[in-house]
Amino acid sequence: MSAEPTDEDCIFCRIVAGEIPSRTVHETDTVLAFLDANPLAPGHTLVVPKAHHETLADTPEDVASDVLTALYELTPTVERAVDADASNVAFNNGSAAGQEVPHLHGHIVPRFEGDGGNPIHALVGSRPDLSDEELDDIAEGISAELEA
Ligand code: 5GP
Ligand code: ZN
Repeated sequence: MSAEPTDEDCIFCRIVAGEIPSRTVHETDTVLAFLDANPLAPGHTLVVPKAHHETLADTPEDVASDVLTALYELTPTVERAVDADASNVAFNNGSAAGQEVPHLHGHIVPRFEGDGGNPIHALVGSRPDLSDEELDDIAEGISAELEA
């Protein structure tokens, strides 16, 4: 199956093409999973579509589904392999969210009791103080976008 589109300047496209070595742990027609070169924990794994898509919004639904299937299959496997107690599974989805490599990738970060790390709740510096009315408006806005 074609891995188009690709971006010759993209480090993950170059890994997919075999131009840059990686510790690949899983491969399908559409997805590659490999160890993060700068791991947050032993077993830190990245799951990428073979085709170059920057964010979830840019990724065709079938390809995104393949990425999520690989995350689903790999997460317990990675945990077992490194004897982890848990894991954080997440996307930095866009540069404002901290995405540094502009090629979609899901992180599997194994976690260990007492590892000193943080939960996803520690993502932001301070939480917004939203009124019930504002929360209602946001929920309605999301539902409306889905129906648009
Ligand atoms: P982001 O901040 O974009 O969500 O995460 C990018 C991740 O890619 C980082 O965790 C970083 O360590 C990893 N990374 C960057 N360059 C390479 C590379 O050449 N090979 C591998 N295996 N991982 C990389
Ligand atoms: Zn790419």
